[in-house]
Parts: sequence; structure tokens; C-alpha cells
Amino acid sequence: MKHSDVLVIGGGIIGCSIAYYLSKAGREVTIIEKGEFVSGTSSRCDGNILAIDKDPGFDSQMSLVSQRLVDELSRELDHSFEYRAPGSILVCESDEEMEAAKKWVERQKAAGLPFRMLDREDIRQESPYFADDLLGGLECATDSTVNPYLLAFSLLEDAKKRGATAFRQTEVRGIKKDQDIFIVHTSNGDFTANHVVNAAGVWAPRIGEMLNLSIPIKPRKGHIIVASRQQFVGSRKVMEFGYLISKFGGVRHVDPLTEKYGVALVFEPTESQNFLIGSSREFVGFNTKVNNEIIRCIANRAIRFYPKMADMMVIRSYAGLRPWTEDHLPIVSRVEEIPNFYIAAGHEGDGISLAAVTGKVIEELINEKETCIPIEPLAFNRFKERVVTS
Ligand SMILES: Cc1cc2nc3c(=O)[nH]c(=O)nc-3n(C[C@H](O)[C@H](O)[C@H](O)COP(=O)(O)OP(=O)(O)OC[C@H]3O[C@@H](n4cnc5c(N)ncnc54)[C@H](O)[C@@H]3O)c2cc1C
Repeated sequence: MKHSDVLVIGGGIIGCSIAYYLSKAGREVTIIEKGEFVSGTSSRCDGNILAIDKDPGFDSQMSLVSQRLVDELSRELDHSFEYRAPGSILVCESDEEMEAAKKWVERQKAAGLPFRMLDREDIRQESPYFADDLLGGLECATDSTVNPYLLAFSLLEDAKKRGATAFRQTEVRGIKKDQDIFIVHTSNGDFTANHVVNAAGVWAPRIGEMLNLSIPIKPRKGHIIVASRQQFVGSRKVMEFGYLISKFGGVRHVDPLTEKYGVALVFEPTESQNFLIGSSREFVGFNTKVNNEIIRCIANRAIRFYPKMADMMVIRSYAGLRPWTEDHLPIVSRVEEIPNFYIAAGHEGDGISLAAVTGKVIEELINEKETCIPIEPLAFNRFKERVVTS
């Protein structure tokens, strides 16, 4: 039986960040992963660390804190993770969207964020590949980008250097609490711990069930196309304003397939200039098989905004599962019903952006410190039905 002070379940970017901040604070940590580290959603996504698409107020302030922490990590961690902070933009294709964008910018500026409107000429300067009819857009100057896979491994390596222990191919199959000690049964033997953190992403509800907890997270599938290195299309992340509408479930004026699959343009230039094109949003269970009809739909949407992309080459496509919650905020929280059990999951499309702040907050909760952001909006007890009644 292997004992540790803190046991983290799940080796995605959230679990790796928690292991990093806890071991940096001197805690003895074990992190266990059912498959290979970073084989879940954290390697099937984009790498944007964004405030531009966050609800003004708590949501965007939390992202700003995380952006600052990632900037610090880019100097602290041994391995680089393709960090850049060039800002990001949203583009508008109608007067209606320009009006909505102006309101979005005003609200963000009032909350103290570095947002500004862009006109047609600014958009032309941004990339010669944009469609001529785009009206303008908006910019968030602090937004940054990383390679999520490398950031997760970099955090994990640093945690191990500080004494953390990591077990791969170790699937949690049952959890019991005997007085103050958790006993965690896995495919690789039993582990005991004083504190347990559930960082299992879309699988967090299954871990919750083992302790009779009902955790309201659902997998929301998204597809991405990877292009080959070719012309320099642009240096920073671009989304269509409709992405916000798609994310928050509003009504868009698009063709039925684009609507059905929740497709909205996301363009992400990577350091190696293999740009990524996304994305879709659907609730179709845990299947990550690529649907070619959706890939076509994403490609068509990209060509609407960048007509010359029709002649560019793509290498591959993939799909991942965003851990969705109803109010679009993650659960980063103690569990009142089970002392010393924590949940850090449900980051939907923001888990890369919020990994650093999540790791820090869990460290602060376990060490009973004041937290770097208010935690009430992230509390598990905001959901009424938390305990399975059978
Ligand atoms: C198409 C797409 C694009 C995205 N783009 C962005 C973006 O640009 N910016 C952003 O911030 N976010 C983005 N996201 C969201 C982001 O990828 C996720 O929020 C984040 O990766 C979630 O990380 P996680 O560590 O919670 O989950 P995961 O990476 O899935 O990690 C959970 C881990 O737990 C393990 N596990 C599960 N059950 C068990 C068990 N029983 N025992 C042991 N281990 C277990 C799993 O194997 C897995 O490795 C995107 C997501 C998608 C799908």
C-alpha cells in the first residue's frame, strides 16, 4: 500500500498543475493516471490562454490571474512550452455583430481589461488572407498561447523534481474513507492518502460516484483540423464573434449544419506554423471518433473567413471532449460532505487557460491559505443535488 499526503487523480493539465503547485509548496504528492499522462482532453485541444471570450467580471478576472501565472511559469519551469503572448482577436461579419462587439468591449474595459475595437483597416493589416467583406472586430491585448501538451509535461516534470511521484496505467476503481484516511483501489494496487483531489476531467463524475457524489459534468465534443506548414497566415489567434454566441448557446444566423454542430471559426497559429482550425460543440457521449461531415463544415467556415485557405493543405484532424458544466464555470472546490476531498474539473473549453490558477487555488485550499481569487463561484455546493440518493 503506497501512502501519500495528497493523491491527485487524473494526469491531464489540471492534475499536473495541481501536482506542481502542491509540491512547490512542500506537500508530498502522488499523481495517478489511468492511461498515459496527458492522453485525455489536454492533448486533443487548442492551446489558447484567453480572456477575450470570458464573461466580463469574475470569469475574465480569473483568466487574467491565470495568464499572469502562466507568464511566471514560462520563466520558472525547466522545459519551454511554446509560450507567446501576442493578444487575440474576434472578427465580425455583420453590423449586428459589430454592435454586440462594441458592448462586449465596453463591459470588458469597465472591468479593467485591455480590450479595444478594430475597424476594417485594422483587420486588413492583421492578415492579407482575410475575406474582404469583414467589417472589423475586437482585440484583447494580453491573451497568450501555449502548447498544452508541453505545458502539462513541463509542470509534471517540475513536480517530480520537487519530489512528486507519478503512476501511469493506474486506473482508480473504488474509493473508501476509513476515519481520516482515504483508501483508493486502482488497477495498480491500493493507495492511501490524507487528501484526495478529483482532477479526472470529463470522467470526474465516475470518480464522484465512487463516493456517492453526483458531479454535473458532461462531455462536449470538439473537432480540430491541423494544417501543414505553408504560407504565414497570421501570428495570433482569431475567432469569429459568433464563437461567443456558440459557446454561450445564443442564436446565430448560419446554415443548418454549422448550427447543428455548433461550428465557429477558431484559428490558432502554432510556433511551428502548423495552424489549427476549429471547432465544433456537441453532446454525443464519450466517443472521440472524427466525424468527416463536421470536418467539412469547419473547413467551409474557415474558407468563409480566409477564402485562400481553400488551396492550403491539411495534415490531420482530431476530436476531444470538453468537460462541460451548466454555468460554464469549473468546479474548483472542497467537498463539504467529505472532508479533505476536492474537485478540480469541469473547465469546458477553458482548461488550458485556467490550469495554472486551478492548481494554485487547490494548493491554497489544502494549505488553508487565503485564495488568489474568490472561490464561491467555483464551489461544488452551488449545485443542489450533490449526493446520489438511491
Ligand atoms: C477541441 C477543443 C479545443 C479546446 N481548446 C482550448 C483552448 O484553446 N484553451 C483552453 O483553455 N481550453 C481548451 N479546451 C479545453 C481543455 O482542453 C480542457 O478544459 C482541459 O484539457 C481539461 O483538462 P483536464 O486535466 O481536466 O482533463 P483531461 O486532460 O481529460 O485529464 C483528465 C485525466 O484523468 C484521467 N482519468 C480519468 N478517469 C481516471 C481514473 N478512473 N483513474 C485515473 N485517471 C483517470 C484521464 O485518463 C485523463 O488523462 C479545448 C478542448 C477541446 C475539446
